[in-house]
Amino acid sequence: MKILEERILKDGVVRAGNVLKVDCFLNHQMDISLFQDMAKEWKKRFADKKINKILTIEASGIAIACIAATEFDNIPVVFAKKNESLNIDGEIYSSKVSSFTKKRVYDVFVSKKYLTPEDHVLIIDDFLAVGSALNGLIDIVEQSGATVEGLGIAIEKGFQGGGDKLREKGYQLESLAIVDVLDAENGTIKFRE
Ligand code: 5GP
Repeated sequence: MKILEERILKDGVVRAGNVLKVDCFLNHQMDISLFQDMAKEWKKRFADKKINKILTIEASGIAIACIAATEFDNIPVVFAKKNESLNIDGEIYSSKVSSFTKKRVYDVFVSKKYLTPEDHVLIIDDFLAVGSALNGLIDIVEQSGATVEGLGIAIEKGFQGGGDKLREKGYQLESLAIVDVLDAENGTIKFRE
């Protein structure tokens, strides 16, 4: 998606350890008009899918998932919580996710009330690196008996391999920008053709 790639080139900052900082429009300050364009693009790419729910993970996925939902008839958005909270009554699906940026393993939870075998789920997240977050969300959907209809990612770091493994498994993965080169020394960012 050209405008997202251009925005990454304009405002993205390459950090050591294969980290791309996009705090200025995605992860801290948020460009809602860009999110609306991203939502339209996902709607186009998943036009043939019957989707009735969006699943994401806190925190950065929530805003883009909510804007995405407006293009899918305002279907409900569920976000996986990273810590068991008092609001959740023990009836949960859970999975383990290892955080690429924070270098630790945590549990993610979704209440059984909000995912059922009748659900057809689009999973949305901001970044895809090695795929731990997405695989955790897929695991939770599968535990519930719901169907994963597709995976929508804003920025995939293609060189970290998580995306290609999911494509090989047969998932429809739609990443709006795929970064294949991220060089912290000279700040180079290159996208997949
Ligand atoms: P994965 O689980 O695929 O290895 O990493 C995906 C998760 O890690 C995303 O939910 C995102 O929050 C975070 N993440 C991974 N790489 C980056 C990055 O380069 N920049 C930012 N801002 N977040 C990242």
